[in-house]
Amino acid sequence: MEKYSKIRKTTQLTSLAISTVIFAVALYGIITHNDFYFEIGLLLIGFIIVGGLLLSPILGRFWCGWLCPRGTFLEYVLEKISHKASIPKTLRTTGFKLFIASIMAVMFLIVLLGKNPLLVSPDKLASIGGFIVFICIVTTLLISIPLGIVYMPRTWCGFCPVGYAQSLLSKNKILHVSIEDCRNCKKCHTECHLDICKDYTGKSRTIEASDCFACMKCTDSCRIGANKPVISLRAAN
Ligand code: SF4
Ligand code: SF4
Ligand code: SF4
Repeated sequence: MEKYSKIRKTTQLTSLAISTVIFAVALYGIITHNDFYFEIGLLLIGFIIVGGLLLSPILGRFWCGWLCPRGTFLEYVLEKISHKASIPKTLRTTGFKLFIASIMAVMFLIVLLGKNPLLVSPDKLASIGGFIVFICIVTTLLISIPLGIVYMPRTWCGFCPVGYAQSLLSKNKILHVSIEDCRNCKKCHTECHLDICKDYTGKSRTIEASDCFACMKCTDSCRIGANKPVISLRAAN
């Protein structure tokens, strides 16, 4: 069954196309030192705040699974070249997530204080917009892609600060994936981006992990329909 995969792919690629245009315009602003184009990068923050943070209390990490351009890029571009080794547990610990989030927070503070030596602009909004574009490029090239080649393509998404923020906001989300009458064939295990569903199969229960993207890849891979999305008020862990 490919019930959700086709809709999800269309949604992801549409979001990626829009974001790529915004990204290219902002990058042009950085290269040509044009603050107006630079500020366009701010739209990416708007995307993240509206799509990621505002939706997450209700839909969990729906943004990550269905809309985030970087998640989409990693998922489809690295799919063919990734070795898909299991993600080391260290990269999924709260300590590591906080470590990465702290680095980002310090860098953001440097930009807000106007001390960024790489993207100097008297226009604060332009600096922030440029910073977002800059940080996306650097983290994608130096961290997300290398890790995605060695481990699962979306390894970065296990500790990305924006994803982590969504997980924290998702404790009372209502969109879950439920498993009932599972035969434990393990087929869905290899589909999950973050090795989550393997911890829930074999019994009838709801996947309550706040890191779950609700991407429904595990749902589509289940031939007997034991795995399906549900709307419920059960708290995530
Ligand atoms: S974890 Fe970060 S990079 Fe990955 S999909 Fe979510 S917001 Fe995007
Ligand atoms: S949920 Fe479906 S695909 Fe996953 S282990 Fe159970 S029966 Fe197999
Ligand atoms: S558990 Fe299923 S819905 Fe959640 S991230 Fe994994 S594959 Fe996607």
